[in-house]
Amino acid sequence: MTAIQRTLSIVKPDGVQKRVIGDVIGRFEKAGLRIVAMKMIHMSSSDAGGFYVVHRERPFYGELREYMSSGPVVVLVLEGHDAIALTRRIMGATDPAHADPGTIRADLAESIERNIVHGSDSVESAAYEIPFFFSAMEIHGG
Ligand code: UDP
Ligand code: MG
Repeated sequence: MTAIQRTLSIVKPDGVQKRVIGDVIGRFEKAGLRIVAMKMIHMSSSDAGGFYVVHRERPFYGELREYMSSGPVVVLVLEGHDAIALTRRIMGATDPAHADPGTIRADLAESIERNIVHGSDSVESAAYEIPFFFSAMEIHGG
């Protein structure tokens, strides 16, 4: 038995630039996930730093902030059975070179830095990330 969960996903700036918003979202929907919130935004560097605050000590934190604020992104909340792990499976490994064939990152991403898509990695992350972008009124659960 799996629980109904919500998870936060982002089509990152390289995904928007490469015109694969529809491809990414289509994969989530075909897998049975429901989009319950979605918008396009352009984060500042400090917005991106706040979103990725868990990585503040990592060597790539500065570049990650720069990349995530380099252009608009599409942020969405996905709902469904086991949504957190399912979304991660559809995304593939962080490094596209190690991602399983048929995953978003294997098919579309160019590098471990610029890897097209984000998905919450745990219930705790989702609980931080969803309200980072969406108020309760912007989430349209079924
Ligand atoms: N990242 C990076 N270099 C690394 C690891 C990660 O630039 O060595 C970036 C990449 O965009 C990744 C994000 O930082 O998606 C967050 O890293 P995390 O380990 O949380 O990977 P994810 O959860 O996105 O698979
Ligand atoms: Mg992560």
